[in-house]
Amino acid sequence: MVADQFHEIQKRVAAACLRSGREPGEVTLIAVSKTKPVEDLKEAYEAGARDFGENKVQEILEKYPRLPEDIRWHMIGHLQTNKVRQVVGKVCLIHSVDSVKLAREISKESEKQGIVTPILLEVNVAKEETKFGFCLEETEEALEEIRTLKGIKVQGLMTIAPFVEKAEDNRQIFRIFHKFYVDMKSKNIDNVNMSILSMGMTGDFEVAVEEGATMVRVGTGIFGVRQRIGE
Ligand SMILES: *Cc1c(COP(=O)(O)O)cnc(C)c1O
Repeated sequence: MVADQFHEIQKRVAAACLRSGREPGEVTLIAVSKTKPVEDLKEAYEAGARDFGENKVQEILEKYPRLPEDIRWHMIGHLQTNKVRQVVGKVCLIHSVDSVKLAREISKESEKQGIVTPILLEVNVAKEETKFGFCLEETEEALEEIRTLKGIKVQGLMTIAPFVEKAEDNRQIFRIFHKFYVDMKSKNIDNVNMSILSMGMTGDFEVAVEEGATMVRVGTGIFGVRQRIGE
């Protein structure tokens, strides 16, 4: 079942690419496996999934030793500075950098390990009080500060769009965020590589792809509904 759903979402991503004149290879589908058992992740892996998204450090630590080594783990949830040490070196990309303080901590730990950690800045485009992230107006200033850190490399931007009934209701948010991304990219800021735009989830990933997402994060659509509430 997970395999079929994974393939179905892949097809829908590809179709959204073609509709908007993009190459399907331009968009990475991240299978958001939070709260799901390792068996489900294995099934997705067998179906071809290599990018998995988790939002809790503890869960990544439990799962990654039990799955193949060629999986790329994405940290997509709010990260506390005191847990940074545990994920640096294990994840390929941290999507959820929502403060300069956190960026500093990731950089410090990466330098200690002799690596450079790729990160995205999380932006709260709709200014929802319940969400983490920089607001659009403060993102450029944060970029200027964060780009000087030696242990991290900014690879792009991420947002969690509002929960809406109809995907179309988020089109404007995605459009605004894509425009901002293109604008930042055109500034060619030193030590910033604007090449990843992470936006779109089960309810709205097709609209996100049409509006320029390069990574979509799909959980429910692949693994089914989650039991734990609030996640
Ligand atoms: C849970 C989660 C997702 C996936 O949500 P679905 O609606 O189940 O696709 C995507 N991004 C983040 C940051 C999440 O926490």
